Amino acid sequence: PVIRAESSTPEYFPDAKFYKVEAILRPWRIPQVSSALLKMGIRGVTVSDVRGFGSQGGSTERQAGSEFSEDKFLAKVKMEIVVSKEQVEAVIDKIIEKARTGEIGDGKIFLVPISDVIRVRTGERGDKGERMSGGRADMVSTS
Ligand code: ATP
Ligand code: GLN
Repeated sequence: PVIRAESSTPEYFPDAKFYKVEAILRPWRIPQVSSALLKMGIRGVTVSDVRGFGSQGGSTERQAGSEFSEDKFLAKVKMEIVVSKEQVEAVIDKIIEKARTGEIGDGKIFLVPISDVIRVRTGERGDKGERMSGGRADMVSTS
């Protein structure tokens, strides 16, 4: 079945123009997630290798894969994507679509309000700082 995020009227609190979608995911799902995000015009993504435990409790059903772990902490990848408020739900749905296996340990998504986005190269802030040329806002407005 297609699983999506339960519907939410995007009235997140605290309200902000930009949000960071912070997803803790299975490492071997990252290639599918990032190429799908790129396809939908999301071009700014940061990933880090992290370790964590949740209700999976360190159990590793995939001994041969990348989830092998000697202790309670399993290797995960943290993906951070800052987007404008209107793009949040589409990004969340895409992450679920591409990262989900249905098994315990699929991960979690945190939504974090962001006060401002500043592009180092130009000093632009706010909408201009966040927008990326050829990115999702451009794709959506020309289609
Ligand atoms: P420029 O046009 O000057 O290249 P840019 O907005 O494309 O600016 P970069 O300087 O290329 O941004 O980005 C540097 C790093 O910042 C990226 O490799 C990525 O890790 C991170 N990053 C940029 N934008 C975002 C974003 N919206 N969300 C998450 N990470 C981002
Ligand atoms: N919201 C930006 C745009 O539409 C893209 C942000 C991102 O790629 N993380 O251009």
